[in-house]
Amino acid sequence: MAFDIDMIKQVYATMGERVGKARELVGNPLTLSEKILYSHLWDGNPDKVFVRGKDYVDFAPDRVACQDATAQMALLQFMHAGKPKVAVPTTVHCDHLIQAKVGASADLKRANETSNEVFDFLESVSNKYGIGFWKPGAGIIHQVVLENYAFPGGMMIGTDSHTVNAGGLGMVAIGVGGADAVDVMAGMPWELKFPKLIGVKLTGKLSGWTAPKDVILKVADILTVKGGTGAIVEYFGEGAISMSCTGKGTICNMGAEVGATTSTFGYDESMDRYLRATDREDVADAALSAKEHLTADPEVYENPEKYFDQVIEIDLDTLEPHLNGPFTPDLATPISKMSEAAKENDWPLNVQVGLIGSCTNSSYEDISRAASLAKQVSEKNLKMKSQFTITPGSEQVRYTIERDGFIDTFNNVGATVFANACGPCIGMWDRYGDNAANGPRNTIVHSFNRNFAKRADGNPNTLAFVGSPELVTAIAISGRLDFNPLTDKLINEDGEEVVLDEPRGYELPPEGFAVEDAGYVAPMEDGSGVQVVVSGTSERLQLLDPFVPIQPEELQGVKLLIKAFGKCTTDHISMAGPWLRYRGHLDNIANNTLIGAVNAFNKKTNFVKNQLTGEYGGVPDTQRAYKAKGIRSIVVGDHNYGEGSSREHAAMQPRHLGVAAVLVKSFARIHETNLKKQGMLGLTFANEADYDLIQEDDTFNFVDIASFSPGKPLTLEVVHADGSKDTIIANHTYNASQINWFKEGSALNVIKKENA
Ligand code: SF4
Repeated sequence: MAFDIDMIKQVYATMGERVGKARELVGNPLTLSEKILYSHLWDGNPDKVFVRGKDYVDFAPDRVACQDATAQMALLQFMHAGKPKVAVPTTVHCDHLIQAKVGASADLKRANETSNEVFDFLESVSNKYGIGFWKPGAGIIHQVVLENYAFPGGMMIGTDSHTVNAGGLGMVAIGVGGADAVDVMAGMPWELKFPKLIGVKLTGKLSGWTAPKDVILKVADILTVKGGTGAIVEYFGEGAISMSCTGKGTICNMGAEVGATTSTFGYDESMDRYLRATDREDVADAALSAKEHLTADPEVYENPEKYFDQVIEIDLDTLEPHLNGPFTPDLATPISKMSEAAKENDWPLNVQVGLIGSCTNSSYEDISRAASLAKQVSEKNLKMKSQFTITPGSEQVRYTIERDGFIDTFNNVGATVFANACGPCIGMWDRYGDNAANGPRNTIVHSFNRNFAKRADGNPNTLAFVGSPELVTAIAISGRLDFNPLTDKLINEDGEEVVLDEPRGYELPPEGFAVEDAGYVAPMEDGSGVQVVVSGTSERLQLLDPFVPIQPEELQGVKLLIKAFGKCTTDHISMAGPWLRYRGHLDNIANNTLIGAVNAFNKKTNFVKNQLTGEYGGVPDTQRAYKAKGIRSIVVGDHNYGEGSSREHAAMQPRHLGVAAVLVKSFARIHETNLKKQGMLGLTFANEADYDLIQEDDTFNFVDIASFSPGKPLTLEVVHADGSKDTIIANHTYNASQINWFKEGSALNVIKKENA
């Protein structure tokens, strides 16, 4: 099963009517984003207009994709849904757990040895529940999805923020947490706030050294890392049409770096060419027949200011290659200004390593253009001045570029080809052994998407700049951050001045794509007999026990666990880094619960008072002490509690340890939903100033929990150490079915009951 053509035809069969109804209701021509959103409503045909940036809407995505790090908890939860199979086509991709060190085959072998338990688990669950499994080495989730599953006009969700990459093939593809993925896999609706719409008009045409990557680097410059929040970015114009489909993928991929919900492009011939080149003629034919619905109505692009909430225009004829960074992807420097900027900011000019590839930039076009530069190293008697690495996005790309001689070209300049996996892009790069934290100040350039401190190599002193694969290659040849290949000359081994010719490449392989073993493992038709084995002594995986409902009597005498001060993101609640290893083991990963949160009473992290002993200790240990005595606890927090990632661990861990409620000034919405889904109380102070009433030895009584109902605030009696009391009113946003999640112990328990 490479893709589900019947499902795709079904989407197109209903799209015309749904788009027509939506157009009538909205009373305006529609953008592409609106067409896709309105044709994927959970309730089918549209019957009302949704307010952008305001209304929460239930959608019915066509597909789900999960990567190995996030799939573990998602699948552990899905196993409790009581479903024999996933309700929508779903795939799992093993890409995050493969460390780059010496080269593809040795690194892959090591990963298969160290993480085989996780890979075997993911494969057997996939086999049991009808999920397509892409084994380690098959490629990076987003490249594999683009090659095999993405289709114009479709909607998908994925448990990774760069799921948005599939917008390059005209999808609305959105990154979500595992709990959302479980809902969709279990056949439930998926809720999203109807996004705002940003239009980006691309005029002119890319040429010479400028690449699609430079478009998104420029957009990041304009919008900054927050500018796309809550919005879909829709690209259009002659510049969009003249660009390759994979180039569009690169632009959409990095839309995550401006905070956008997702990004997308209207259907055009580049998509048709890509679909046919990747062996999907039937999808291409189906899309062709539905093409009027797969792009915006013509009036929208003629008068974009009228239909988008914001419009940006970029002229590709004058766009320069950019390098963005260090430490943030929106700090953009055109290459002609880099010399000046580097001097001003004291950025080390000597570039240690150039890295190309990743899910963002490893298309055939990217690699062939980079190879055309690497070839000039021997032709012009140059020497590669920086180390150089290539991370292919998929086995199909790797096999094809090897067949076409590009891998040899890279090997000839001393490059290292890493496994088809995330590797250096996610810090799985063993650059310094155990000494990463004290690594030297140095500069690297890469064609990935994120360049936060420590992201690539764990060294806080590495300055990472993001650029196109062709610019990264040219800079790696020169060894200098301020090398501008448009104007600067290099001195070759004979002491002669030479210039690099402009990169040249192929949009698609002239001989077609090829692959021997793409790495796909189809699930059994009937997986009911498949046994999913998880060792009881495993430190990385643990089968979940359903959460037991929190009873009203347990909500009397609730102890304060921590009053968090200031920012408390999902990273503060459930740290990443070395803890990634335990993402499939709830009890082990719970040992990092809230260890990054600052205790408001002493401004220390992971140092809270145990009210039973009066002693101070770590948050998880203190909470485990309460749990051992059957005492529930509460976490108090500030504004936007739980911002950051959508990882459900940040709700599951406190729940597992016995925390009953989280009371804050305000929530990040996804975290609030995650708390509800895990059967906890997520509450906000009706009067924010009440946060100041909370003291270190407080005990809480939820006096009216028995009448918990929609729209009715809860009353909390707070008993202080001296016996004095305060009464606090706590607001909540639970609707009737969410209150039922609380009463049943979790949303998953409800799904299971419904399926029983
Ligand atoms: Fe994420 Fe990087 Fe892997 Fe892409 S290559 S999925 S951005 S970690």
